[in-house]
Amino acid sequence: VKLNNKTLSDLPANIAVPTYDRSALTAGIVHIGLGNFHRAHQAWYLHRLMQNGQALDWAIVGAGVRPNDETRRLELLEQDYLNTLIELDPSGISAEVTGAMIDFVPVTADNAPLIARMAQADIRIVAMTVTEGGYYIDPVTKAFDANHPDIQHDAANPTTPKTPFGAMAAALKIRRDTGVGPFTGLCCDNLQGNGAILRQTVVSLARLSDPDLADWIDANCSFPNSMVDCIVPATGPTEIALAHELGIEDLAPVTHENFRQWIIEDDFCAGRPDWDKAGAVFTDDVHAYEMMKIRILNGGHQIIVGAAEVLGIETISGCMSNSAIAAFFNKVALNEIVPHVHPVPGRTPESYVELISSRFANPRIVDTTRRVAFDGSSRHPGFVIPSIRDGLAAGTPIEGLALTEAAWARMCEGTREDGSTIQPNDPFWTDLQVAAKAAKDDPAKWIAQDQFYGDLANEPRFAEAFDKWLRLIWAEGMTAALKTYLAA
Ligand code: NAD
Repeated sequence: VKLNNKTLSDLPANIAVPTYDRSALTAGIVHIGLGNFHRAHQAWYLHRLMQNGQALDWAIVGAGVRPNDETRRLELLEQDYLNTLIELDPSGISAEVTGAMIDFVPVTADNAPLIARMAQADIRIVAMTVTEGGYYIDPVTKAFDANHPDIQHDAANPTTPKTPFGAMAAALKIRRDTGVGPFTGLCCDNLQGNGAILRQTVVSLARLSDPDLADWIDANCSFPNSMVDCIVPATGPTEIALAHELGIEDLAPVTHENFRQWIIEDDFCAGRPDWDKAGAVFTDDVHAYEMMKIRILNGGHQIIVGAAEVLGIETISGCMSNSAIAAFFNKVALNEIVPHVHPVPGRTPESYVELISSRFANPRIVDTTRRVAFDGSSRHPGFVIPSIRDGLAAGTPIEGLALTEAAWARMCEGTREDGSTIQPNDPFWTDLQVAAKAAKDDPAKWIAQDQFYGDLANEPRFAEAFDKWLRLIWAEGMTAALKTYLAA
């Protein structure tokens, strides 16, 4: 059945569909970056409320600033902005159709339709998922990158901006001048302190052309921090075929895991849906949840992928069905990361390790080792090395974390144990490979890369453990090193 408003009642009976009157919904949110993640996460929470007769004046208007977003708009227009979500639960697959989106702004180079829509009074939240790299911040210093050509363009042409942030500033100027007032900017990208980053980008960009507007935005708009979590793979022929098997013709179905989390600072200057009634959590302490996720889930990914890449294991669920790697994740997480992670309401760090272990093991989610091993040069410093520092400071074990770093160094040498080549997977690959080759005979050469390790090479407990593990990996292989650690 080709998905649209008219065919909803023809879908197979086991597919849940909107029970609310979509023609009665009114808009409240513009979402920029209508990727898969938004549709499986934020739009799902809103749909849940609408299924209960709530938030009917908060429907989503899709938007984007890239040509591919116009392609997405035309696909969704064909199906009346209905979305098929397919849940990949290890115990079975199920589908539902969500209806919280009611429109999509035409995507043009000058972003005029987007600015005009965001300037209207019914829009009270402008949300976005434009990827972690989309905020024009320096990855190391986290400072705003005023020299980027896109930013320079928007500073010189504030009424015809290219970036989402220029468009937001232009719309906010109209709202200020017409008395409509501010909206909330809600970042849903995977960045620590994402609201603060969004504020910095919008305000700093506005300041380049209109300091008064920048001050007004800073004083009147709110930018809540939030932590988002749900594994949502990209859609390809497999996902479209899966929707077809379930009885739905959808040009852009979304698959997702059977877990979602959304932790949001309750700081909305123009109102908000009661997302908490659909399972989201409003809190003043997003940071504690972020820390648990980053150290255990994101750090956990790095713990397993170095070894897995060297052993030629292709997926994250494949890692978890390798007994040595699964045990390695559990031991390092419980003994070396958990001591530095605080509990959050309803969850201890130990139970979070158990949860992540089962999420990683979900065989229906095809998350590749290669994807997760990408960008080790930003992920190790962001997700693993802080746990090493905490362990050194507190006198808790760091052996498994040192072995994680040795496995990364082994991976960056560029070959697997079966002799095959590991393709470059990092912006700094060339430098990493030079260091990894030198470290084969002299492990200290790897941790001397102070752009990642800072002064950790001078910490004897870390340096000695790292030296021992990298030598053992090269002498006896990755599995032997993991088993030595597990036996200790
Ligand atoms: P996607 O590729 O399906 O969609 C990305 C969207 O962002 C598209 O609309 C694209 O046009 C837009 N975009 C990309 N780069 C941009 C840029 N520089 N400026 C403006 N727009 C840009 O990706 P997705 O799966 O929806 O993931 C998007 C983001 O959501 C991730 O980067 C991450 O921050 C967050 N997230 C994703 C997942 C997941 O499992 N997919 C999980 C947690 C968080």
